[in-house]
Amino acid sequence: MVNHTYPRRQSPTERQLGFLRRDFVTVFGLAALGLPLLEACGSASGRPAKAADDGGATVGAQPRVRASQAASPGRGVQRTSFPITAVGITWTGSPRGVRLRFIDRKGQPGAWQAVGAGCPCGKDPAPGTVRTKSATPPNRALVPAQGSYGYQLDVDFGVEVIEAIAIDAGSGSKYRPSPSKSAAAKTPDASGTAPAFPPSGVVLRADWGADEAKRFTADGSESSPTRFTEAQMVTVHHTATPMDDPDPAATIRAIYEQHAVSNEWGDIGYHFLIDSRGTIYEGRFSGTDGIPAHNARDEVVTGFHTFGFNPGNIGIALLGDFSKEKPTSRMHGSLVELTASLAARHKLDPLTDITYTSPTSGKSTGGPALGGHRDWTSTECPGSAAYLDLSAVRERTAHLAR
Ligand SMILES: [Zn+2]
Repeated sequence: MVNHTYPRRQSPTERQLGFLRRDFVTVFGLAALGLPLLEACGSASGRPAKAADDGGATVGAQPRVRASQAASPGRGVQRTSFPITAVGITWTGSPRGVRLRFIDRKGQPGAWQAVGAGCPCGKDPAPGTVRTKSATPPNRALVPAQGSYGYQLDVDFGVEVIEAIAIDAGSGSKYRPSPSKSAAAKTPDASGTAPAFPPSGVVLRADWGADEAKRFTADGSESSPTRFTEAQMVTVHHTATPMDDPDPAATIRAIYEQHAVSNEWGDIGYHFLIDSRGTIYEGRFSGTDGIPAHNARDEVVTGFHTFGFNPGNIGIALLGDFSKEKPTSRMHGSLVELTASLAARHKLDPLTDITYTSPTSGKSTGGPALGGHRDWTSTECPGSAAYLDLSAVRERTAHLAR
């Protein structure tokens, strides 16, 4: 493993001061070019890797992730000194009110493209703040950049861009899917018994290249310390990223960067992610015992995936955009295996509605024990095609988990 030393992420106050410094430099140093200077905050470290056993290979050193936070998101051309994997954007106003064009290495802009709002996942408000199903979180998107060196945003009237971050997710993660042997051929229904948790072959954080330093502030304190509560339900999302992703681990690192650093949640919001090949990835950090999402008392760590309904809610994100296209059979099979193992472990009935009670606010709300993000929040997530597919997921989960 190659160890790099990079600055830890800054506290909000430090970042504010950083923006002021950058704005000063921008105004007095780069005004002639009209190019704001961007913050580089990449880092690379992590706990010891554990080999995936689902047919993937472990290769290379820990990937180096670099990111540039826009000092003035939504305004001007944002350029980077490194090739971008993706641009993460958070905005309020119309979900269809943002357009983006990439800038190549020579400074030439490409064509404008519409930015579609993805999963508006989010960290719960502080205890005592009341949330309802009608509350609308900000829009979020992660747009693949394919090696550009900058971007520019254009927004409709009434749209405000809160955060914009250019990410180089790096390469060479320890996990690489193998074309010959994949997690694919899982047929969980065949056994007739509930799959064990965790399912075999879950790619742990160290293997997809999670830089654990990003969970800490500059003073060494954990940004979002783990909190554990009894599991009450499972919620399915999609990432609204490209289908048949050639490097799912890199996309997950980009999501981690956006969630942990740009959105300041201190970690990736989902408990699990599943790619089109059916490989399951560990999401939110829950300890170093190798059991994803749980503590030793079988409680689940609180994630940041369903704004206002996070404690006790296990979030599973499907990698891709399932607005029109259904999940692949491999992805569907792994989702069923995972939800059945969770339903059996926590005695959840996937065919029923529950009364979810927030352990922090005490507020109760009705919804499905196994549902989609849109069951809890005003959003398209997990996409209409994946949402329709959930009825089959529930049936198969119930068959296995009983
Ligand atoms: Zn979602």
